[in-house]
Amino acid sequence: MSVLTDLIYGGSNAVAALTEGAVNDAIAKYGAEKEIAFPDTAYFFPTIYAATGVKVKTLGDLPACVGVLKSLITNQEDLGQALNAGLATAVGAEILEGLKFAEPKDSYEDARVAGIGFVPDPIIRSLGVPLVTGDIPGVAVVLGKAENGEDAARVVKDYQSKGILTFLVGDVIEQCADGGVRMGLEFRVIPLGHDVTSVIHVVTVAIRAALIFGNVQPGDLAALLSYTKDRVPAFVNTFGAIDNVVVSAGAGAIALGFPVVVDIDLGENQVPGALESVTDHEKTVAKSLELRNIKIKSKELPIPVAFAAAFEGEIIRKADMKVEFWSAKNTTCELVLMKDAGEVEDHKITLIGPDIDSGETEYALATLIEVYGKKMQADFESVIERKIHSWYNYMEGVMHTGQRNQFRIRISNDAYEKGLRIRHFAEVLYHMIMDEFDTVVDKCQITMVTDKEQAAKILNEQAMPRYNQRDDRLASMTDESVDRFYTCILCQSFAPAHCCVVTPERLGLCGAVSWLDAKATYELNPNGPSQPIMKEGCLDERTGRYENVDKMVKEATHGAVESVTLYSILEDPMTSCGCFECICGIEPMSNGFIVVNREYAGMTPAGMTFGELASCTGGGVQTPGYMGHGRHFISSKKFIHAEGGIERIVWMPKELKDDVAPKLNKTAKELYGIDNFTDLIADETICTDCEALMEFLQEKNHPVLSMDPLL
Ligand code: SF4
Ligand code: ZN
Repeated sequence: MSVLTDLIYGGSNAVAALTEGAVNDAIAKYGAEKEIAFPDTAYFFPTIYAATGVKVKTLGDLPACVGVLKSLITNQEDLGQALNAGLATAVGAEILEGLKFAEPKDSYEDARVAGIGFVPDPIIRSLGVPLVTGDIPGVAVVLGKAENGEDAARVVKDYQSKGILTFLVGDVIEQCADGGVRMGLEFRVIPLGHDVTSVIHVVTVAIRAALIFGNVQPGDLAALLSYTKDRVPAFVNTFGAIDNVVVSAGAGAIALGFPVVVDIDLGENQVPGALESVTDHEKTVAKSLELRNIKIKSKELPIPVAFAAAFEGEIIRKADMKVEFWSAKNTTCELVLMKDAGEVEDHKITLIGPDIDSGETEYALATLIEVYGKKMQADFESVIERKIHSWYNYMEGVMHTGQRNQFRIRISNDAYEKGLRIRHFAEVLYHMIMDEFDTVVDKCQITMVTDKEQAAKILNEQAMPRYNQRDDRLASMTDESVDRFYTCILCQSFAPAHCCVVTPERLGLCGAVSWLDAKATYELNPNGPSQPIMKEGCLDERTGRYENVDKMVKEATHGAVESVTLYSILEDPMTSCGCFECICGIEPMSNGFIVVNREYAGMTPAGMTFGELASCTGGGVQTPGYMGHGRHFISSKKFIHAEGGIERIVWMPKELKDDVAPKLNKTAKELYGIDNFTDLIADETICTDCEALMEFLQEKNHPVLSMDPLL
């Protein structure tokens, strides 16, 4: 036998024996009836579920899985068969890791840097948009222990600066911590655990992506493997000596289509494109990206701190803060204005008032961005303006929250020490606008004002009037008032059969694409992911059925979806990719609907969690009665319009309810003359089961009680 297959089978057999023993021990200790589950997933033991369709719910379900696992290990001298044995190792790892959750809580990890272990479904859903936009260009799994810890830290920092989502397994976790790598989901570097088996937690991210976004049917192993290979841009790096368990886990990765780069010399045991040796750590990153064909758009900006999406979630605490711009204390505003050619001098940057080295810790800040472009439209001002939030957050050591005249910016001591000053903010704005909006912006000049009086002047004389003007335009913009809607197919890279239809009153289900955004996307890139749908051939106003919408959706989904309505959840509802902010689902007892947001982890009166509800739809399929959508759609007059509209909403998690209350109550007042409608809607502090929900609705005399039955 070759050294490689020998190693793989050695590892697989070892893991099989370990798994069998652990399963038997657990059953002896807790009994076969004991329930077992990973936290916050609707996909049971995801690898087993996806590969075989078996739903593991109790310890007693596991011995059969061990049988399947063993059958995958043929011990035959053939690379394909050996890779299957690698899948067996993945199944074994999943069971071993799953058994950890049968133990009393908090026993998962007690290492110096605890791993997060299992990644819950809602996090995977939240990764959908950054992955499709290329904001996260790839997924790295870094495993083992480097001979020189600094090398591992350098490699991981390099991935981080490129926006790659990196998972760490083993002692590299401590090596990275010692090397100053900042970790956490917000930094896109995630420590999984110290046992090799914890690598399964990133494998199941890929596997659940196939179930969530790809509509891969449980049990269809071939479809699963082709999804992970073609659509999940992941790869593996190992540091240090590798034993047979690591090799067989690596074989599992290869079977899923993820190339493995090791830092020891495998000589003739290398498998080109799948298993390669790179002994020089300076070349690890480049080789890994090349194997997965991941291209990084590099952004070299003239600023003294790093600039990458990986820093977007960075939080700057008061103790680490040098200066702050905050609306609660000083005048602030951010404004993009469209100007005539003669009024804009390209790349002109002006600072009016003191810079942040004047000794103060709090400043006013008015940012005025004036742009000219032959193809510029006033509608794009707000689209550009909203990007300021992300761009500022991409700067290492800068935190930005809010928008318009309500925001807060913090600059860290560290960034200040590196030389970050106000003009660098202007440089970021200039370069990013010219990079992302070059089709519509020809010239751009930026004025930053920290002088209190001058800032107030800009706020009152230019910003407020413009914000108000835009709000009036948005409020007057209805589906009836425009002549076109837009498609968005960005998510097709993960959900090949999905297409969103974006209208003024219905934003994309990810919450990130409004009608104006889709319009701007189209103008910026006429062959891009958003295409206009001329509003022609209305077949049914109640459900929002249009001949032209059907035609465009059918084209966009390559025939997978024949017909969608814009305003119904029961009749040909819009499809979901999987990355929706909220899900709306039927609550049969009350004839109403519940709406649940991704962040809510608890139970709902429908008897399902968000994750379980979410698993009812997705992957571009239509599931009458369940529909993914954006937060802002809830207060729209078009929300489940065909079924009677927002009057059907009976339950929402409290946080969501409070968040949408001002707008939802306004809509309810306008449509039905109801005051404080959200007082009639239950939440988890009132009930999480349907009987108590009915009692509450009766007590409040909720309008749903007098509406026609839904079914
Ligand atoms: Fe994906 Fe729809 Fe959002 Fe476009 S609008 S990014 S297709 S969820
Ligand atoms: Zn999506």
